[in-house]
Amino acid sequence: MEKKGQRKNWNRGEYNFLIDSDLELYKNNKKDYFYGMAQQTDHFKKVISHAKEYGFVFPSSEIYDGLSAVYDYAQNGSALKNNIREYWWKSMTQLNENIVGIDAAIFMHPTTWKASGHVDAFNDPLIDNKLSKKRYRADVLVEDYVAKIETKMEKEITKAAKRFGDSFDEAQFKATNPRVLGYQETANAILKRLGQSLEKEDLADVKALIEELEIACPESGSRDWTDVKQFNLMFGTKLGASADSAMDLYLRPETAQGIFVNFLNVQKTGRMKLPFGIAQTGKAFRNEIVARQFIFRMREFEQMEMQFFIPPGTQKEWYEHWKETRLNWHHNLGLGKENYRFHDHEKLAHYADAASDIEFRFPFGFKELEGIHSRTDFDLSSHEKFTGKKLQYFDPERNENYVPYVVETSIGLDRMFLAVFSNALTEEVLEDGSSRTVLKLPPALSPTKVAVLPLVKKDGLPELARSVVDELKWSFSTNYDEKDAVGRRYRRQDALGTPYCITVDHQSLEDQTVTLRERDSMKQERIAIKDLKSEISEHVSLEGLMRKL
Ligand code: ATP
Repeated sequence: MEKKGQRKNWNRGEYNFLIDSDLELYKNNKKDYFYGMAQQTDHFKKVISHAKEYGFVFPSSEIYDGLSAVYDYAQNGSALKNNIREYWWKSMTQLNENIVGIDAAIFMHPTTWKASGHVDAFNDPLIDNKLSKKRYRADVLVEDYVAKIETKMEKEITKAAKRFGDSFDEAQFKATNPRVLGYQETANAILKRLGQSLEKEDLADVKALIEELEIACPESGSRDWTDVKQFNLMFGTKLGASADSAMDLYLRPETAQGIFVNFLNVQKTGRMKLPFGIAQTGKAFRNEIVARQFIFRMREFEQMEMQFFIPPGTQKEWYEHWKETRLNWHHNLGLGKENYRFHDHEKLAHYADAASDIEFRFPFGFKELEGIHSRTDFDLSSHEKFTGKKLQYFDPERNENYVPYVVETSIGLDRMFLAVFSNALTEEVLEDGSSRTVLKLPPALSPTKVAVLPLVKKDGLPELARSVVDELKWSFSTNYDEKDAVGRRYRRQDALGTPYCITVDHQSLEDQTVTLRERDSMKQERIAIKDLKSEISEHVSLEGLMRKL
């Protein structure tokens, strides 16, 4: 009892100002309390409906009312997803001569997951609200609470920036403003305590923290919580026809193990020398306690992972190298450097000696997009123990055999899709007062690179436009559209993120020139049909994007 009382003082005393204002916010708008400011929620709603309306993402089996947290990528979504995957795949395997790619099966021998630690430790702490009967991840409830504090901090900074104008020094303001410092200190203290409790598996303290912060169920507003329990996230299935001979299997919860079990095969057949990497993209499955926020947290999702095998003792330097390289890969897309930050882990997974997330500013706040983990020799050593087979490398320079250490980069393709898509979706008010919705995707990632539009559906313009498509389709994904007024067709292509529209008009018949319209600036220029390919490819090619890395 006494202990609990003391903790309550910690909460109501030192952090009083925060808790009261949060309660106020909570009372005013229960849902927004957890899911971010109203404005962010609005943008997020638009992202979800735009994705559906323009053929990017559909709920799975929608005619049966969908399946919770499972989504299908539609005609434009699958193209965007493929382009993101290709940007990652080529940046890894084509630009690095010491990184090769594989494609391992989703099913793996079940002992793999014993060795990797997933059977015993791939758990999330769950908590139920007694009134609403809703289930939550206890750590996410606390992290969402902290995200609220960060949103407030940002609001203070934005307010001050407006007040001080050009003379505003953000770094100095953050370092000296008492309110901002208070928020920061509170956020740090909460995360630290959460990390320590999870590390020690002290689930009673995680519950105590939720109670002290007076976190309420977003559905019911009730603070009546059950104890926190661990829940294993792996999906089980069976292999084999008859019940007695069937073998219990798991759907892989990460792609990484397919790389580890193939380490020696790849090293030997590829005659790879350390340091070298193995990359892989593919589906992973997790029975998430609360799957939500659209494609941010799904039960079936796709990962892009790279395991970099290194000599023991060099992990710090490679960890820093991959942190920097991966952040640069993100920055290169031009979504705004201010939308990324690192979050170094307090609580390390069972396999890691250092770990950091690259967080992105999603419409609901900063959240993990990618993880960079120094995994030591945990996985290979453990597979050695469970198989009795050596998974070692002979290092000619050191003249010794050892189990390599590993630095991993692991990114969710669906989260990357959401990052790119939500960042790109823009509402613009034009000079004439009208507005347009434009998906400002990095051109190299756009599903369609060029739309070809005959000005009218007669006088031989459709035929000439078709011949332009027939010429360009060898180099770019193209779209032919002759329906509606040309202005409406531009808007449609803007909403799909198509970087260029080509308009074929009567002058085209005479001098073989067309109008080339650029999506973001809406600038139009007259250009010879024969120059289209080189002009467009300069701006939309994956090569162009990768050359900036
Ligand atoms: P989180 O803390 O958000 O559950 P995690 O730390 O468990 O994520 P990792 O195991 O490091 O995630 O997986 C690597 C990457 O895979 C994550 O950075 C994320 O982009 C992606 N990912 C993980 N779980 C999901 C999911 N349920 N849906 C979509 N992507 C996911």
